[in-house]
Amino acid sequence: MTSPADKFTEKSTVVAENLDHRARIRDAMKKYEGTRGDGVQRFNDWEAARDSASRIKGNVIGRLNHYLEQFVDRIEARGARVHWAEDSAEARRHVLDILGRAGARRVIKSKVMTGEEISINHALEKAGYEVVESDLGEFIVQLRREDPYHFVFPAMHLSRGEIGDLFTKELNTPHSSEPEELTMVARRELRKRFMEADAGICGANFAVAETGMISITENEGNARLTCAMPRIQIALVGIEKVIPRLEDLALFLPMLATSGTGQALTCYNSLYGGPRLQDEVDGPEEFHIVLLDNRRTVVLADEEQRDSLHCIRCGACLNVCPIYRNIGGHSYGATYQGPIGSVLTPYFKGLRAWSHLAHASSLCGACTEICPVKIDLHHHLLQTRRNAVSVQPARKARWPYACFAFMMNRPRIYGFAVRVMRRLQHWPVVSGRKLLRPWTKSRELPEIAPRSFRDWWKERG
Ligand code: SF4
Repeated sequence: MTSPADKFTEKSTVVAENLDHRARIRDAMKKYEGTRGDGVQRFNDWEAARDSASRIKGNVIGRLNHYLEQFVDRIEARGARVHWAEDSAEARRHVLDILGRAGARRVIKSKVMTGEEISINHALEKAGYEVVESDLGEFIVQLRREDPYHFVFPAMHLSRGEIGDLFTKELNTPHSSEPEELTMVARRELRKRFMEADAGICGANFAVAETGMISITENEGNARLTCAMPRIQIALVGIEKVIPRLEDLALFLPMLATSGTGQALTCYNSLYGGPRLQDEVDGPEEFHIVLLDNRRTVVLADEEQRDSLHCIRCGACLNVCPIYRNIGGHSYGATYQGPIGSVLTPYFKGLRAWSHLAHASSLCGACTEICPVKIDLHHHLLQTRRNAVSVQPARKARWPYACFAFMMNRPRIYGFAVRVMRRLQHWPVVSGRKLLRPWTKSRELPEIAPRSFRDWWKERG
């Protein structure tokens, strides 16, 4: 069976050589970079806002038990049912049980990354449910039977023409590549799915402990319909999504919008806190929250990288990452891509099989610099590399380092080896390029200088 590391190498090599892909991502990001830059200027003091956000999240993560209990008490008092899920399997079981008890058949979903994390669509389809994604980007990738490419822009890798072709093929509509027309096609298709759905599955951007409510921020209004129209409502929420007070949203909502899409605020910001009350005319009859651990508590136990639970999933670190921009989202083979994905995935799926993601970084630090909640991403990637060596010593890398150490400790041998290599470097069979493959397959190996530093030094006397 191909290992995740081999799959990563295979996929990323293909995408990195695709210049059209690179240009498309670069174009998509150009607009984002401008609007995010303007958005940051709208804050009185962006750095102070980052400090506050980091402090608030640090406080919550440091007292997670307390805030989770508060959140659960308050939301249950309003009639919601809370289900704790230690792992993906338990979370899927809760969802299937809820739907089974309610006699539901059709499910509509708004964008929910925890759903991707636990592969809920696959489980529902296997159990015979009809599942439809209502976020436009997610709807597109669902039609293509693909995973989201980016956790804010799921279909960013596709051109309008490709989306037009897809709609014609899958929905039998006349071809168009105009964004307005494509949106109207999806809107017409989804409207009837909203009307027919028995259950809605959503996520949460934040879970407010003080009031016992979940906050959802979006641009299309599809999450509102997902939460309001079906009679059963299920929210899949990671335990790290808690924030202490309602007023904290005044900081986090504009911060998430600015870092995520470059907007001052997304178009729709809603709070949900339970099922329809007796004198209310709309809203779900049942309101369930599945609180997902799925190894978040393992991250919590690691003091060094605990701050990666501060993540508000804005996607900014992906947008600036030179590696993500060259290899794209599908190469990672994980729900969370880019720098934060490379930090979290080894915790979520196992360090031994997934530590290679920590090497998908130039360690330039752009991710750390842009992160609104100040997660020390590039140092965490270094720490993951170090941790990986303790579970799986890098055997292949051992002998070159041993040779290097041997030579560097013996200046005469080193000098002799450099002289020999200088003469042989253009000799095709023994050339460094051949010897050092695959390292040199995609890199230029600089020529050894005609004169060494030691010779130069000697000549100067
Ligand atoms: S790590 Fe920071 S920049 Fe990356 S998605 Fe999370 S909050 Fe955004």
